[in-house]
Amino acid sequence: MTVRQISPHVHVETAHLGSNNSIITGKHGLALVDTPHRPTDAIAWRKTADQLGDTRFVVNTDHHPDHTIGNYWMGGEVVSHRGTRERLLHDAPDHDYLAKLFARIDPAAVALLDEYRVRVPTVVFNDQLDLHLGDVHLELTFQPGHTANSLIAYLPEDGVVFTGDIVCEAGLPSFQDCRVADWFDAIDKVAGYDFEFLVPGHGEVAGRDVLDRYREWGRDVVGQVAEAIRRGEDSDQASAEIRFVDNIHVDTDDYVGYPDDLIEMFQRRSIARIHADLLERPDLSSR
Ligand SMILES: [Zn+2]
Repeated sequence: MTVRQISPHVHVETAHLGSNNSIITGKHGLALVDTPHRPTDAIAWRKTADQLGDTRFVVNTDHHPDHTIGNYWMGGEVVSHRGTRERLLHDAPDHDYLAKLFARIDPAAVALLDEYRVRVPTVVFNDQLDLHLGDVHLELTFQPGHTANSLIAYLPEDGVVFTGDIVCEAGLPSFQDCRVADWFDAIDKVAGYDFEFLVPGHGEVAGRDVLDRYREWGRDVVGQVAEAIRRGEDSDQASAEIRFVDNIHVDTDDYVGYPDDLIEMFQRRSIARIHADLLERPDLSSR
């Protein structure tokens, strides 16, 4: 556990396999942003949170399992964009998928699967929602980007913005649930915030400079797909051929990452997603 306090009211864990996990401490309780992917990390994270106060809110920046599985072990009300609740109600990974995944990334958690339930958000919003914790408040704003139901969370008192996978310091995440136009718009939106610390969906806490780097990585892969289209390649050809570096689902020093076939599937779906968007709007390749 390498949880670090980055500002007067914010603790962040960036070393979990899966999303970054944050705890915001206010006079009147805690808000958490994203929950651990691995159940054993989630159980430990709950203890960390309990030492800091009473959890009132658990915010999910999107519906992906690496941001939401840990919901089950947290206190408080789960809060998200309305679309995140819908995706968790209808598209959450099933028991068999999780059993196979946990056998690899968190073997001790396979035994927890009989007890585990998808815990869906009970407080949802369309455009904006503020969560008040006494001396600080967290501003949640709907921002399609990494997914159609992503959000940006902002703690103005500490100058901290939590971007979820709209920005990842570690590298590019999957594009499978995004629209390319939204992907670039969302980065521009983050740039419009007044912040000192950017807590990304994955990777180290960063400053403003991560935005340009991240946009460049996105431009590079979008540019490669645009090139493939110019060569006349269809979606299957482009997705068989183009790869970007996955630093998010792979092994780390402390963790075993996703199996190769899943990583390969994310890549293919990502390239197919970009290919479809570019066919519709070729101008996106110059974003
Ligand atoms: Zn993620």
